Amino acid sequence: MQLDYQYRERQVDLDARRAFRLGDGKISGYCSLFLGALSLLAVLAYLYPAYLTTIELRRAYDAEQLQKLLKYGMYFSLMFGVLTFYFNRYKRMGAGGIGLTLLAFALGGYSIPVGPVEPVRLSLGVDWLILAFLGSVLVFMTLEKLLPKYRNQVILRPEWGVDLVYFCFNHLMISAILIYANYHAGHFDWAVSASVQAVVQAAPIWLQVVLIVLCADFVLYWEHRLYHEVQPLWSIHAVHHSVEELDWLAGSRGHFIQVFSERALVMIPLYLLGADATALNIYVTFAALQAVLIHCNTRLPFGPLKYVLVTPQFHHWHHGSEKPAIDTNYGAHTVLFDRLFGSYHMPAEHWPVEYGTTVRLPRGYLAQIVYPFRRWLARK
Ligand SMILES: [Zn+2]
Ligand SMILES: [Zn+2]
Repeated sequence: MQLDYQYRERQVDLDARRAFRLGDGKISGYCSLFLGALSLLAVLAYLYPAYLTTIELRRAYDAEQLQKLLKYGMYFSLMFGVLTFYFNRYKRMGAGGIGLTLLAFALGGYSIPVGPVEPVRLSLGVDWLILAFLGSVLVFMTLEKLLPKYRNQVILRPEWGVDLVYFCFNHLMISAILIYANYHAGHFDWAVSASVQAVVQAAPIWLQVVLIVLCADFVLYWEHRLYHEVQPLWSIHAVHHSVEELDWLAGSRGHFIQVFSERALVMIPLYLLGADATALNIYVTFAALQAVLIHCNTRLPFGPLKYVLVTPQFHHWHHGSEKPAIDTNYGAHTVLFDRLFGSYHMPAEHWPVEYGTTVRLPRGYLAQIVYPFRRWLARK
């Protein structure tokens, strides 16, 4: 921490054109369109579960029960669509939502018979996409509205659409990511120790979870640090840092090379430890929730936990573009390794005044995906 540095308060002005207001039809338009699109995706997943759902997730939910949720989603999409005509605004979105929902009804709606699924090796995680989207909107968007850090920051902030594309890609690709990560971890067969795994498995579940968190955090810390400090790798990771307003959706922004390599690397300690499935499931849930939470626009108080766990304030500093914050706070789960290896930056109650990269990246999805390749070619 630099004592002579003057920290300033970030100012966020309300962008009235982008804001939602009750009663003007915009909320109805977006709700109708999103629920319609999700309903159609869900119906397709019920029609082709082998190709459009994930084995791991199918075990965790009851597909017949979820049809009730689909039923409400479809009717609400229609209702919101009709409301846009009542408000006489955003009617195109309403019509789009109604159209998608009617197509979902035509394809079988919420009463497609659910039977056993013949698993295929590679599928698209449509179920994971729908459930993660609904869950995130419900939990994190609510949190951001109840306890915002910047009250004036709007849901439809600049580039939210780009981040939604990243969100969809990361969730649809879940099977491919897991297959790649497991394949990669398989290369470490030689390092598996039956005695180490026996000791781990003999430990109580909470201790196994702590052990997994620490080992995963160590790997993720160094992976993240290399992404920052090795130039060719930074061109890839810069994509994650190019976002200039942070919220629950912003954390999805990440180049696919980073998304795949991160999962593959973190799989190695998980594979070597050989912990109980319960401990692994607790870790995976914790890691998934924390990864979204730390990008959220929230002042949720963490009390003394903020000196142990990675919190929104800590990770927002990682995204800060002010000088004292550059290349700090690499930890994914805990602040431990930043403390140990000298990259900890947490100036009391201050938050960054600006986010993003010092050299601005292209703003579109495809331009960001090709960005590192262009940088590498230009260097040669
Ligand atoms: Zn980073
Ligand atoms: Zn981040």
